[in-house]
Amino acid sequence: MTYKPFNSFEVAQSQFDSIAAKLSLDEGARQLLRHPMREYGFAVPVRMDDGSVHVFRGFRVQHNDARGPCKGGIRFHPLETLDTVRALAMWMTWKCAVADLPLGGAKGGVVCDPHNMSMQEQERLCRGWVRQLAQNLGPNLDIPAPDVMTSGQHMLWILDEFERIHGQRLPGAITGKPVGMGGSLGRIEATGFGVIFTLREALKLLGIRAKDTTASVQGFGNVAQYAIRLYQQIGGTVACVSSWDQQDQTSYAYRKPGGIDIDELLGVTDRYGGIDAAGARDLGYERIPGERWISEPVDILIPAALENQINAENAGEIAGSVKVIAEGANGPTAPDADSILSKAGIFVIPDFLANAGGVVCSYFEQVQSNMNYYWPKDDVLGRLDLKMTAAFAAVSDLAEKRGIPMREAAYMIAVDRVAKACRDRGWI
Ligand code: NAD
Repeated sequence: MTYKPFNSFEVAQSQFDSIAAKLSLDEGARQLLRHPMREYGFAVPVRMDDGSVHVFRGFRVQHNDARGPCKGGIRFHPLETLDTVRALAMWMTWKCAVADLPLGGAKGGVVCDPHNMSMQEQERLCRGWVRQLAQNLGPNLDIPAPDVMTSGQHMLWILDEFERIHGQRLPGAITGKPVGMGGSLGRIEATGFGVIFTLREALKLLGIRAKDTTASVQGFGNVAQYAIRLYQQIGGTVACVSSWDQQDQTSYAYRKPGGIDIDELLGVTDRYGGIDAAGARDLGYERIPGERWISEPVDILIPAALENQINAENAGEIAGSVKVIAEGANGPTAPDADSILSKAGIFVIPDFLANAGGVVCSYFEQVQSNMNYYWPKDDVLGRLDLKMTAAFAAVSDLAEKRGIPMREAAYMIAVDRVAKACRDRGWI
């Protein structure tokens, strides 16, 4: 048997092909949308601290900008490939479209391992990366953001170099900037809160009161923490939460009668979202194996850690009481589990809808930066709620009308919107 490595771009294309068939898209639209519109691949020579020069490989892929300027993160990863960046760029197009943002999809990357680079070397890499692309990025063209192993600091270096080249201040050229340096209030809450705005709407649709529900959450990082906070504010009880234990190199789940207390648990959690086992025990939490988060007898599951956590092997362990899965993480449900969840009558809020709050807030950051006028946090979160609620309503309406799962409905809306924009512009 020959080994065929996993290729996320092939997965993204086959997902697109199946939706294109369901939408009966014409051949021109299929050819245009199953490939990126533009791709940049280039060398970034960087003077290292020891005086040598290392040449890094950089990419930027702009999948489609029919609905507006491209938006997408920049990843620093030793195993980065052009195909991964292509897939992620395509998924950004669908995510922006399902949230009805006037943006297209892009992604960028550099093959490098920041763990082995000084901050000065990383700064030179960021500046070198944007020097290669300075004519192809910008507030009205393509707006990068942080992603795997890049932060607000990296974005500021990229912005500074970009502004130097263009001879003006252009804060809307990059998002994910620190607050006070062009960043938006509410960004830290945005993804987790967005998950709960969509969950709240799902519960309404199903006629369930949030205060009568319990949830089990996988992960206790940025997304999970803010999702838990808002879920508790709307009356829900978190029965169980799991996290990765760096010391034991395994995951554990924690539970307590009456539900977890987010503030006390945060007191024993590190900045990577790892819960200290001894600290949790002292607070009266019971520790169980991490994979048991999925079999808790709750109403709601919120996977907010990693991809491929609900699959054909473990989907059968989900308790009969579970009515909703709100996908906070990217790709937490393997395609082979979808039909099992559907047969079990579980309402799934798909990842690129449920966790779109992050990109919605990045869009708000860009708008604020372009105006150079920044909104109070309540304004940002209020607008986020409106956007997420509207996006949910469009997807759930189509799912109901056609009798199809939410994931399929979300893809159909996204692809249809982008195809329509291409058609309206006269491209196809
Ligand atoms: P994070 O790094 O802040 O937190 C990750 C959490 O997952 C940590 O608590 C970690 O302990 C836990 N974890 C890791 N492995 C685990 C395992 N095997 N079992 C249980 N817990 C485990 O990450 P985040 O920003 O919260 O992102 C979580 C997911 O959401 C990722 O899939 C990410 O791509 C996706 N996402 C994040 C954002 C965002 O704005 N942060 C936006 C969209 C999607």
